[in-house]
Formats: sequence, C-alpha cells, structure tokens
Amino acid sequence: MRTCIGCMKKRPKYELVRLVLSENGVLKLDPTGKVSGRGSYLCCVSSKIGKRVKKELFIKESCMNYAIQRKAFTKAYPGEVNLGSIEELPVKKDE
Ligand SMILES: [Zn+2]
Repeated sequence: MRTCIGCMKKRPKYELVRLVLSENGVLKLDPTGKVSGRGSYLCCVSSKIGKRVKKELFIKESCMNYAIQRKAFTKAYPGEVNLGSIEELPVKKDE
C-alpha cells in the first residue's frame, strides 16, 4: 500500500500512478514504477470495460488539486521540483 500525496488515502499500487523527479526538477509520470529517483504517488483514473478495470495513466483531477493546495510537491521534494512541470502532467476529471 502507498499513500496518495493528494487525498492522503492509502491505496494499492494499481490505483496509483508513480511520479518521479528527473533532471532539472522536472516531475514526470513513471508508468513502469521502476524509474530510479525519488518517487511519490497520486491516485490515477481507471475506466471500466465490462467487468474489467483498466488503469489509465492520468492523475485524478481532485487528487492533483488537493496536492497543489497542500503544497505536497514542494514538501515531497523540498526546493527541487520545477513547479511548471507539474502543470504538464496528464490529469483527468474523475468519474
Ligand atoms: Zn488520491
């Protein structure tokens, strides 16, 4: 279980997407969960196809907003994160 830095709920890994800090403080999605670097997690959007749940590589908009309000990114990566790169992350409204 990992904690979403937006809603602060503990969730299994498949309900979260990993973010990793890369060069120049750019925060990127890590779909594999294996990129080296300091990771943090946010809830991701999933879609249902019949009974199957498919994970989408979009951050839940509500969790992104919580994370921004709580300044979660600057807390997770003090003085390191390029705040402009956060706006480039893929976000989707939750259903
Ligand atoms: Zn969340």
